[in-house]
Amino acid sequence: MAQAAGKQPQYTPEQIAQIKKKLASMKPEEIQEMIKKQCIFCKILAGEILAYYVYQDKKVVAFLDIQPGNPGHLLVVPKKHYSVLPQMPDEEVGHLFTVAKQLSGIVFDAVGAEGVNIVQNNGQVAGQMVPHVHVHVIPRMQKDEVVIEWKPGKMSDSEAKKIQTAIAEKAKSINIKEPKPKIVEKIVEKPIPQPSPEKMGKPAKKPAKKRTPKLKRHP
Ligand SMILES: [Zn+2]
Repeated sequence: MAQAAGKQPQYTPEQIAQIKKKLASMKPEEIQEMIKKQCIFCKILAGEILAYYVYQDKKVVAFLDIQPGNPGHLLVVPKKHYSVLPQMPDEEVGHLFTVAKQLSGIVFDAVGAEGVNIVQNNGQVAGQMVPHVHVHVIPRMQKDEVVIEWKPGKMSDSEAKKIQTAIAEKAKSINIKEPKPKIVEKIVEKPIPQPSPEKMGKPAKKPAKKRTPKLKRHP
C-alpha cells in the first residue's frame, strides 16, 4: 500500500496526557477492539471494505494489493490483529509464511510471473503502511518497475565481531519447539539377505534406497 498523503496529527501535551490516562483505564480487550476499529485490514476482514480475495482459511486471508507493484501482487494477512511480526506466536507465523510460499508458486502460472519477491515490513521506518502484520507476495517480470534494493555497505572485522556477539548472545534465548518425534508402533525386522556362494568375497550389495519422486520445477 502506498503511503497516505498528509501529515500525522499533532497533539498538545495535555491531549497526550489525556489519551494516556484513558488508555491506562481501559482493559486490554477494549484497547484491542479500539485498534481493530482503526485498522484497514480489520475493516476488510469485517467486510466493511471491499477486497479481492484469492484465498482464505481459518487463520489467514490473501487478497490483491489495491496498489500493486505488478499484476498479481498479493497481501497475506492473519485474521487476528497483530501490529508487527515479533508479536505473533511462532505457529501462526509458520502458517502465514506457508500460505505466502504456496501463493508465491501459484503466481508463476496464474499471472505469468518470472520471479517473485516475498516482502514483510515491520514498523513505519521499514515501510510498513498498515499496522497489521502482512506479507507481500510480489510477482516479478522482466523490466518491471518494482524496486527492492539497498546500497551495499561496508563493515570492518571488529565491527562485524561486535555485532555478531551482540546478536548471537541474544539469539541464545531463541527457543524453537521441536516437532514431537513420531512413535514407531511396530518394528518389523527383515532378514538380512545373504550373498550367494558365487558372490562370496565381493562386498554385499546395499539394499536399494527408496526414491522420492522428483518435484516438478517451474519453467
Ligand atoms: Zn487489524
